Amino acid sequence: MTDTIEVRSPIHGTILGTVPNQPPEAVAATVRELREHQREWEAIGPLARAGWLRALREWLLAERDRIADVLQRESGKPRAEAEIELPFVAEAISYFARHAREFLADEPVRPSGLLSAAKRMRRLYRPYPVVGVISPWNFPLLIPGADVITALLAGAAVLLKPSEVTPLTALELQRGWREIGAPPVFAVVTGDGATGAAVVEHVDYVQFTGSTRTGQAIAHRCVDRMIPYSLELGGKDPAIVLADADLDRAVRGIAWGALLNAGQACVSIERVYVEAPLYDRFVANLVDYVAALRRGDDRVPYSVDLGAMATSAQHAIAQRHIDEALDAGARALTGGGNDDNDPFLAPAVLVDVDESMTCLREETFGPTIPVVKVADAAEAIRRANQSKYGLSASVWTRDTARGERIARELEVGAVNINDTVTNLLEMGLPHGGWKQSGSGSRLGGAAGLRKYTRQQAITAPRIRALPWEPLWFPYVPRKARIVRRLLAAVAATGSALLWRTPEPKREAL
Ligand code: NAD
Repeated sequence: MTDTIEVRSPIHGTILGTVPNQPPEAVAATVRELREHQREWEAIGPLARAGWLRALREWLLAERDRIADVLQRESGKPRAEAEIELPFVAEAISYFARHAREFLADEPVRPSGLLSAAKRMRRLYRPYPVVGVISPWNFPLLIPGADVITALLAGAAVLLKPSEVTPLTALELQRGWREIGAPPVFAVVTGDGATGAAVVEHVDYVQFTGSTRTGQAIAHRCVDRMIPYSLELGGKDPAIVLADADLDRAVRGIAWGALLNAGQACVSIERVYVEAPLYDRFVANLVDYVAALRRGDDRVPYSVDLGAMATSAQHAIAQRHIDEALDAGARALTGGGNDDNDPFLAPAVLVDVDESMTCLREETFGPTIPVVKVADAAEAIRRANQSKYGLSASVWTRDTARGERIARELEVGAVNINDTVTNLLEMGLPHGGWKQSGSGSRLGGAAGLRKYTRQQAITAPRIRALPWEPLWFPYVPRKARIVRRLLAAVAATGSALLWRTPEPKREAL
């Protein structure tokens, strides 16, 4: 294990900063400190916590240009994409701060039967003391930001372990929390996978976003430790284009959905199934559109559409998927041939592809758009559902009612009709993967805060206690008979007290 990690520009290879590669002992010590302050953080209640989060939002908005600079430099994104992450986090703060009290309020529970009829009952949402957030490199602020602010609002202390590829943006978040003078219930530890593994060892809940492979390893360890976890993992999102689709919108929407962040998004469109009557025109228009996109270093802001591959390893995976497809008989109608040293991988539209090829089977996480001709919607649905992943999907049709019917047949956590990514922009909707794309979800209204809490049941007497309790000792015949009737009454619910065992009917004797 090295002591420090050099953070490099994916475009120029220059060193942008160094961060400590924190060992397990440092992680353990940070968790201990967080734990000390968490009780007080919980005790101040949701309104006061919302106040701190709003102060963080103001700080973020004031620092938005500086943060976009840091984010752009360490990720290699175009400026426009570097600028959209912070407003998303600010909006998440606004929404969850506004609803925190309502989402976390104690809930009175009405008696469900006789045995609890004399009780005053409450369901409470009590936070897990320390939540560990482990995040990837593709959205260095948006992903950790959304998880950190919801866990803090829920009343947990939070330890964030950002990706070793993009830790500098996360450190800005920590700087903000300190500069507003907030209680010391949020900290960032930097380091590689070993640091992440140490986080899993010490926290009380793990919120992980990253690859399915790492997610599985984390889940195993969480099961051993008997702590809960939520996993947002990889995807292989299909787009289904029906013959009646608005061709121009489908082409532009699918190109953006597939190539946003140079295809390095979990919800990136990585498979397109097009109904036969529209296939030729769709492919021709898509190729023209994609070939005209500009890529490169966005030094003059908003002058390019596609930025860099964030790491050479990710570049190599995307290139391998393209090469393997071409070797197996696919054609690249644009893109496809690349220089390994060029961080800007040319977007590739691939045709004559099938699910035996890695480009349609495995997560590419790069700028590829494999397009498949299908006979009808039924074939598209069947092939879309063949994947081991189930993150999200899109359906493109002028008949939105039909689009919704198709959505209900897809085995994915979200479906956007005539759009892509939209579900992620709504705080009230859950973002979570099915199948190997994850377990649990983020955001999604009340669930977005309650996931970081444990439910606690509290009962108290509503009226003066009886001189004797029916279920307590001693067990004697008279009391047992009463209890027997009482329990039967409970089972029957409703007509409770008057319930009696019916006399057996004469004929049956
Ligand atoms: P990754 O799994 O390699 O790393 C993610 C994080 O886990 C990093 O911080 C890393 O240091 C840490 N880590 C690595 N090994 C660990 C271990 N054994 N224990 C604990 N932590 C460990 O993923 P990545 O390459 O950074 O990100 C790309 C992946 O993230 C893609 O598969 C993508 O689909 C997925 N992703 C999913 C979503 C979603 O919401 N579903 C969003 C963005 C990215």
